[in-house]
Amino acid sequence: MLNIILFGPPGAGKGTQSAKLIDKYNLTHIATGDLFRMHLGEGTPLGLKAKEYMNEGLLVPDSIVIGMVEEKIATTPDPKGFIFDGFPRTVAQAEALDSMMSRNGMSINGMIALEVPDQELKVRIAERGKTSGRVDDQDPAKIEKRIQVYKDETLPVANYYDKKGKFVSINGVGSIEDIFFRIIHEIDKLS
Ligand code: ADP
Repeated sequence: MLNIILFGPPGAGKGTQSAKLIDKYNLTHIATGDLFRMHLGEGTPLGLKAKEYMNEGLLVPDSIVIGMVEEKIATTPDPKGFIFDGFPRTVAQAEALDSMMSRNGMSINGMIALEVPDQELKVRIAERGKTSGRVDDQDPAKIEKRIQVYKDETLPVANYYDKKGKFVSINGVGSIEDIFFRIIHEIDKLS
């Protein structure tokens, strides 16, 4: 079983690369941003709660995120492995993930981080904002806020996995295909 975390700032290309990795390794995708947008689209109470934070570029509180991920893991029939995208985004989420994985007899093989300079991130997100319909992609102040929140709250998660010897970072600038090959090269070393 292969369980990986794809890590990186907003706009780093996690969603794009996840789609390709799922196909190649037959993994279940757990993308917390996508799950929140799905709840929001369906107008569930969870979605309405998350919206207050998402639209401001803030993190949704840990307890909400963790509960949602737990449910998704528990309701995946016969998983071959998971790819976590946009989660964990805080050290508390990482600790909760480790304990839910071990409760289910699984573990994280590794975290792969996509490194992309801030200036490139801003350009990519603004470009995505033209078609994504995402409120948080359309306002430069909110984009800036998300990058800042990433540095303050999410970057410590890299250190958390690094200390366990489970962290690797790769260059996230280049063609989609080149970056994909860099990632699979690292995954093949893990498994
Ligand atoms: P991006 O990586 O481009 O910011 P996502 O789709 O991953 O986009 O996330 C969108 C928003 O959803 C985040 O800005 C945040 O408000 C919320 N969110 C997603 N995942 C998490 C998480 N693990 N913890 C807290 N909030 C989250």
